[in-house]
Amino acid sequence: MWGLLFFAVASVLFGSYYLTNLMRLVKWSREPLGTPLPRALGVWDYAFSDLSRRARVGYDQRERLSATLDRFREASQAMPDGVLYLSESNAIDWVNQRAEEHFGLDHGRDIGAQVTNLVRHPDFVHYLEAGNYAEPLLMRSTRNAGHTLIVQIIPYAEDQKMVLSRDVTQLERLETVRRDFVANVSHELRTPLTVVIGFLEILEDGVDDLSRDEKLKYLSMASDQATRMQRMIQDLLALSALETGAPAPAEESVDVSTLLEEIRAEAEALSAGQHTLSLEVDGPVRILGSAKELRSAFANLASNAVRYTPDGGHVAMRWQCSGGDGIFSVSDDGIGIDASHIPRLTERFYRVDRGRSRETGGTGLGLAIVKHVLTRHQGELHIESTLGQGSTFSATIPRRRIIASSVAA
Ligand code: ADP
Repeated sequence: MWGLLFFAVASVLFGSYYLTNLMRLVKWSREPLGTPLPRALGVWDYAFSDLSRRARVGYDQRERLSATLDRFREASQAMPDGVLYLSESNAIDWVNQRAEEHFGLDHGRDIGAQVTNLVRHPDFVHYLEAGNYAEPLLMRSTRNAGHTLIVQIIPYAEDQKMVLSRDVTQLERLETVRRDFVANVSHELRTPLTVVIGFLEILEDGVDDLSRDEKLKYLSMASDQATRMQRMIQDLLALSALETGAPAPAEESVDVSTLLEEIRAEAEALSAGQHTLSLEVDGPVRILGSAKELRSAFANLASNAVRYTPDGGHVAMRWQCSGGDGIFSVSDDGIGIDASHIPRLTERFYRVDRGRSRETGGTGLGLAIVKHVLTRHQGELHIESTLGQGSTFSATIPRRRIIASSVAA
């Protein structure tokens, strides 16, 4: 009887010990991953701590893996190129923000979709399906009109693909500018060269028949054209030195009044007494910069004012300070410029009136040089003009280049 009672009590105790531990295990298994397993009683504790250790190792591995994946995604996201991962069946697995922009995708909506249902450009579809990825594909962006993408597919693992995309619109534009520039230079030099050759042929054919005066006339005209070519080459060299590799302007202290007096004398010589010229220097008279470059920029503005102002006109040069910046302005009452041309004037070889530019010895490079010099001095060029009334070209030199100690009263 006592034996039976003892057995019953022991069974109940054992059962509740068993159930309690089992319940703890079940409860723990429903907790979020990483929750530590509670302690257990007796032999269960051994099993619990083994299980706990294994779960911890598994959890740590998982955490490390997920951190690695996060880092990898962050790196792909930060890439300047578009990155798109495709599954074996060409469904989108992952896409970074740049690729979303390039292809008009949305990671929240398009993950799992067939890429060719969303990027339907025939060139892309053909490139993807042809399977020859040795060369990249150059394609027009369907999303951003006027943009060009270079797309490279890189197969990896088993039948998966990485699609890299880059917007090369800017590069393409630069290439066009370079090509246009070479064509322009060739054209600009060929014109005077053709004239020189023409005069030389006339002289050759008429060596016995032409009078001395006629020969001198043709020689002088040929010489004018040769000088024009020389000027153009000088301007081109100056421009190329400014554009490529030339070191930043030397920080010398430039005396603006002396510089402008020299420029005024040159402008007087160019005008040959046909214009009224004035120079006013107001404010600080020393600036930090390259004397040679500033001289070339300011002289270009002054000579343009003379060249594009009919005889009898006025050219006013002025140096003043405004808000701490130094401003060299040249105003004329010459032919003026229609507003539609103004944004393009600093482009190389851009001329409103080719004939007039040529007659007055222009190369079409003057304002391009001015703009470069000012940019190298962190300055700016402002142009105001009214057709038929005149123009004002203002070159601003930033305040940090103005030498404060010489501030004039
Ligand atoms: P160019 O050697 O032809 O003068 P620039 O680059 O110096 O070349 O100037 C570009 C064009 O801007 C000129 O061809 C001319 O049409 C216009 N331009 C420049 N300065 C003036 C001005 N003061 N008045 C009218 N037009 C001007």
